[in-house]
Amino acid sequence: MRIKAHRGAVAPLTLVLVTSVTSITGLVAPPAHATPETALPRLPQAPPHAGAGKVPVAEGYGGAVATVDLDASKAALKILKQGGNAMDAAVAAAATLGVTEPYSAGLAGGGFLVHYDARKRSVSTIDGRETAPRAMTATAFEGVPFAEAVTSGLSAGVPGSVAQWDLALRRFGTMPLSRALRPAIQVAERGFVVDQTFHDQTAENADRFKDFTSTARLYLPGGSPPAVGSVLRNPDLAATYRELGRRGPSWLYGGALGAEVVATVKRPPVTPGSSRVIRPGLMELSDLRAYRAIERPPTHVTVSGLDVYGMAPPSSGGSTVGEALGILAATGETAAAPLHAYLEASRLAFADRNAYVGDPAYVDVPLDELLSEGFAKERACLIGPAAMPNPAPPGTPDGTYAPCPAASPAGGRDTTAPDKGAQEKGAQEEKPEGPETTHLVVADRWGNVVAYNITIEQTGGNGIVVPGRGFLLNNELTDFTFGPAPGDPNLPGPGKRPRSSMAPTIVLKDGRPLLAVGSPGGATIITTVLQILVNRFDLGMSLPEALAAPRASQRNAAATQAEPAFVERYGPALTALGHTFTTTPEIGAATALEFLGRDRVQAVAEPVRRGGGSALVVSPAR
Ligand code: GLU
Repeated sequence: MRIKAHRGAVAPLTLVLVTSVTSITGLVAPPAHATPETALPRLPQAPPHAGAGKVPVAEGYGGAVATVDLDASKAALKILKQGGNAMDAAVAAAATLGVTEPYSAGLAGGGFLVHYDARKRSVSTIDGRETAPRAMTATAFEGVPFAEAVTSGLSAGVPGSVAQWDLALRRFGTMPLSRALRPAIQVAERGFVVDQTFHDQTAENADRFKDFTSTARLYLPGGSPPAVGSVLRNPDLAATYRELGRRGPSWLYGGALGAEVVATVKRPPVTPGSSRVIRPGLMELSDLRAYRAIERPPTHVTVSGLDVYGMAPPSSGGSTVGEALGILAATGETAAAPLHAYLEASRLAFADRNAYVGDPAYVDVPLDELLSEGFAKERACLIGPAAMPNPAPPGTPDGTYAPCPAASPAGGRDTTAPDKGAQEKGAQEEKPEGPETTHLVVADRWGNVVAYNITIEQTGGNGIVVPGRGFLLNNELTDFTFGPAPGDPNLPGPGKRPRSSMAPTIVLKDGRPLLAVGSPGGATIITTVLQILVNRFDLGMSLPEALAAPRASQRNAAATQAEPAFVERYGPALTALGHTFTTTPEIGAATALEFLGRDRVQAVAEPVRRGGGSALVVSPAR
């Protein structure tokens, strides 16, 4: 097994689509159906409330898209059919999600995208992460109850999405922003049909939405969440998008729209009589003026002949998925139970993520070492036949790596390190992980691919709509460590980007795109992406099966968080190895696509989670 990790561009190779791959990590030797534990999952059926026309799998030619929402997928398809490329379509879909999935995405949020450029045969990424205002210090959240920060001006980061769309279109698109926004404007004007998921998300937020006049007016028409089947229009957002297209990003980044954002953050439009404690924000117009989206080299690991590209810090997505893949590649099969090594590799990678990853402009992140073969091998030594004690301490990614102790080949090394402080440094964060955020994938007829994670952090962001503008503000700054936590790489700082878990991922084989995948779900994003790759390449599942399969998320916590069906299927064998589980109804809501060969593309969304997603192709037949 060779694993080689580095950052940078992909070597130029001819674009020919590939068909099949056997194993990404070599972790599980027998085919998936060889044992009852690895039996392929039966695909769950779409729920009755999935929108009409919403199908989770589509195969065909000429371009493909998968998002959580039919209108957003249609927006991307429309742009592809008009001759736009994958980046044009990705921006159109993202802007449309700002209308139909406004609690997960929007122009005042942020995100990360990974792009495969078919002409240059290279992978690059754009960081549109929100930043802290310059007045924010390391102690800004100390003593602030998390729940109070969630609905506040204080947690609103300087929005990144508009700058990201602009940079993405200028670098890789063919259309101006005004054109890419057109489908979203139409949906906002015409309205969209409220489905069960939207209704439920509104109801869960109703308590805080009612505390802001602007939010209540838009999302609680008549005082309650809009009924399933009703049509919700957002003419304010249509007008905002239209004006943004006309005036350009500077309207937000230092202009009049920016001034309105700042005023809302500093003096939220609180409903008279509300007793909610609402902390004002620190954002100034100068913070907006200073904002830049950043093009960054992707993270890159090579595992079993596959090149896996992801998002570099300030996201921990690429480094943690990449490190875990490296550990798995170095581990091989260690136990009778499939997915044991998956959980253990994830535990170790999270220990390192928590200890070392933050905004690289503020923290010296040992990224190359975290993704190196030597470090992966050293970490893999810790994986034995049974679950390791928790929490695992972080490793030392310093370039000097010891071979596995002879007494415990490929594992079993004592992880109960005496350095309790170090151990705690790697332990799971306290922050609860919910189902917020969204992810989309697009491929075009030329073979360009975009994997794009967008978010306003929690479902509903900070709960505050900018009056008259039709969009919610993010509460991304709650992704910082609140502290006190001396030495933590993710403490707030002036202008700093909070550490993310978003993990848009593109896999190449022989320099050609094979697969793209990503998911929402806070820190579970990382494990969802990792598990889908393991399902697809090690457990022999098809991509739709890999997405539908029950999930578990081990993030260096004593108990692994898992969906009930995971515990049912894998629980007995894993519990016998010392794993314990807590259950949660759903983890993630992934979208993905795979090149099947001879220009055929398969787009895949969730069949059930979060109400099911929407996959579309430009043409089902060649
Ligand atoms: N704020 C999260 C992150 O960047 C994304 C939102 C979520 O899925 O929780 O990791």
